[in-house]
Amino acid sequence: MIIVGAGAAGIAAARRLTAAGKRCVLLEARARPGGRAVTDHSLDCPADLGAAWLHFADTNAWTTLAEQAGFEVIRSDPGWGPAAWVGNAPPTAQQRAASAAGFERYFGLVEAAAAAGRDVSLGEILPVDDFRQRFDAVMTWAVGVETANVSVLDLARYAESAHNWAVRDGLGTVVAHAADGLDVRLGATVTNIDWSAASSVRVESTAGTLSARAAIVTVPTSVLARGAISFTPALPAAWRDAAEQLPLGVVNKVFFALAPGSFDAGDARHFIGRGDSARTGSYSLFPARQPLLSAFFGGDLSKELESRGELEAFAREELRGIFGARIDAQLASARSTAWGGDPFSLGSYSAARPGHADARAVLAQPVAPNLCFAGEACSAPYYGTLHGAWLSGQAAAESLL
Ligand SMILES: Cc1cc2nc3c(=O)[nH]c(=O)nc-3n(C[C@H](O)[C@H](O)[C@H](O)COP(=O)(O)OP(=O)(O)OC[C@H]3O[C@@H](n4cnc5c(N)ncnc54)[C@H](O)[C@@H]3O)c2cc1C
Repeated sequence: MIIVGAGAAGIAAARRLTAAGKRCVLLEARARPGGRAVTDHSLDCPADLGAAWLHFADTNAWTTLAEQAGFEVIRSDPGWGPAAWVGNAPPTAQQRAASAAGFERYFGLVEAAAAAGRDVSLGEILPVDDFRQRFDAVMTWAVGVETANVSVLDLARYAESAHNWAVRDGLGTVVAHAADGLDVRLGATVTNIDWSAASSVRVESTAGTLSARAAIVTVPTSVLARGAISFTPALPAAWRDAAEQLPLGVVNKVFFALAPGSFDAGDARHFIGRGDSARTGSYSLFPARQPLLSAFFGGDLSKELESRGELEAFAREELRGIFGARIDAQLASARSTAWGGDPFSLGSYSAARPGHADARAVLAQPVAPNLCFAGEACSAPYYGTLHGAWLSGQAAAESLL
C-alpha cells in the first residue's frame, strides 16, 4: 500500500496496515514526518509549532501512544473558556459567570439551528451583544476562521473536549516518534496518482514512481483543492468539491523565550489579550512547563500578520499594552510560524464552509477499492485535531483491509 503524507493520519494508517501484516510505504514531501505536528528546539526548549494539546485527552490515542513510549503527559488543563484571564486580571466571579452564560447562550443557538437542519453561517444566527467580540475571537482560535465563515452544523457536530493536556517534550516529538520503524520516504512530493486500474495504483513523486495495490491520500484539503496532485482519471466531482468546501483556516503562533523567573503574571497560565475585540491573541505561559510564552492568533488577523511578517510585532505590542514596557526586557528571542504560506498544508485546520458540513463524510468515503482519503478533515466530531487524524487514518486502513 502507498500512503501519501506522513502526518498523524498517514502514520495511523501505516501502523494499522503494518499490524495487519501489510507492507506499506509513506511518501512525504517534507524532510520530516509529523506534518502539522512538529516540535521546534530553536529557542533551546521544546516548542510545538503546530499541534500542542491533546484534546479529548482522556480518550485520545496519542495520550496512550505518548505514555507507552515514555513521554510525560502533563495532566492539567490550561484554563480556557470562562476561566481565562483577560489581560493581567483574573476574571471576577461575576465576570466568569457572565462569560459561562454567554458560551451557554451561544451554543444553545448553535444547537437549535443545527437541530432545525440549518447549515448556515454562524454569523447569521448569533446576536451582536456584549459577548459577541469575545466569542468571535474564540472562533478564530478554535476554527481558524471568522464567525461568518463557520458552518453552524459543522460546529454543532464537533465533540466537546473536556480535557486538554500537553506533553513535556512536545506533542510533535510524540508524533514523529510514532513514525519510527515505518518505511517513510522523505522529500517525496507526490504529483500524480493513476488509479485507472481497478486493483492497483501508480504514484508519481519527486522521488520516482511506485506501484501498489491501493493508496491512502492524507494531504491537507487546501493542498488537494489547489490541484497539487493530479489524478488519472480525474477525481469524481463529489470528492473534488468536498476538498474545496473544507479549506484550512489559518492559526499561527509566536513563541517567546523567557528568562527563568522573569515573567510575573501572578497565577495566570492562560490569558487573552482583550475581551472586546476579535483581533486579539490567546496566550499560554509555560504551556508544557518550558520557560516560554506562546501567543496564538487565528482567522483574518493571523493571515494578515503572517503575510506582512508582523506576528511577533503584534504580540509584543499587545503584551506591552497589558504588562507595560517592562515586558520588553523579559521577552527574549522569538519564533513565529507561517502555516498559511506553508506549501504542504496551506493553512492550519479545516473549516467546512457554511452549507457544507456534510463534505467531511463525502471525503471520508473510499473513492474506489484502490483509492481513499484520510486526515483530520474527514472527521466530523474531531476535525482539526490529531485525534481526528488518527481515527481517520485507522478507518481508511480498515476500509482497505
Ligand atoms: C498552529 C496549529 C495548532 C494546532 N493545535 C492543535 C492542538 O493543539 N491539538 C490538536 O489535536 N491539533 C492541533 N492542530 C491540528 C493538527 O495539527 C492537525 O489536525 C493534524 O496534525 C492533521 O494531521 P493530518 O495527518 O490530517 O495532516 P498533516 O499533518 O498535514 O499531514 C499531511 C502530510 O502530507 C504531506 N504532504 C502534503 N502534500 C504532499 C504531497 N504532494 N506529497 C507528499 N506529501 C505531501 C504534508 O507534508 C504532511 O506531512 C494544530 C494545527 C496547527 C497548524
